[in-house]
Amino acid sequence: MLPPVRLDRFARHIVLPEVGGAGQAALAKTTVVLIGLGGIGAPALQYLAGAGIGMLVLVDDDMVDESNLQRQTIYREGEIGRSKTELAELWVREFDPGIEVRRVGQRVTPANAAQVVAGADLVLDGCDNFATRLAVSDACVAAGTPLLSAAVGRFQGQVGAFAGHLPGEPCYRCYVGDAFDADDCDSCADDGMLGAMAGWAGTFAALQAIRVLLDGSGGIGAPQWGKLHLLDGLKPGMRTLSIAKDPACKGCAR
Ligand SMILES: [Zn+2]
Repeated sequence: MLPPVRLDRFARHIVLPEVGGAGQAALAKTTVVLIGLGGIGAPALQYLAGAGIGMLVLVDDDMVDESNLQRQTIYREGEIGRSKTELAELWVREFDPGIEVRRVGQRVTPANAAQVVAGADLVLDGCDNFATRLAVSDACVAAGTPLLSAAVGRFQGQVGAFAGHLPGEPCYRCYVGDAFDADDCDSCADDGMLGAMAGWAGTFAALQAIRVLLDGSGGIGAPQWGKLHLLDGLKPGMRTLSIAKDPACKGCAR
């Protein structure tokens, strides 16, 4: 059970039959690794922290740039040039000192990915490049850790839940293939992005993360492995694709 001092904080969760005291206590025992503290990561962090996740591992190697402020909601003008992981840790500590935080101020590569995801109940990847996404996905499959992958550009977002370590379930690499392992570029700077679109994708990723974390103790529904939700801010609307497991996938095939 939660300590009595935490009950008021989460009262609106606890009163939901789908979450309840047991679900809230379960969330407080979880560790979530958040890869990328940008347009997806910043709003996702705010709602994961709000949900009382027990331990947040904050991963980014970047500094705040003035052009980030239009969508990366935890940073302020006076913080330009400072480390995103340091600022994000400070934000969490001021928001809720009851949450444990660990910082990883490095880019995730195949060499360090296993170490970064170790101990996680879930990894939420909102980073800005395919090379990192694939390294994270492979490490999640190897560690048996669920992965929520979220991306956004212009007026489009994608949020998918992957559990490639489970029989018959695809991983992120099943979805994108191997072509992007060396691809370091992303179209955000070239193509632009509506700030609120990143907020939608990031907060929806936080909702899906909580769905996965409550699987087994709560009732907000199945984790939706292999489902990719496409968010369209122009329409506006959402549609859902099912990703098939690739029997030849180098990330998750046995
Ligand atoms: Zn796969």
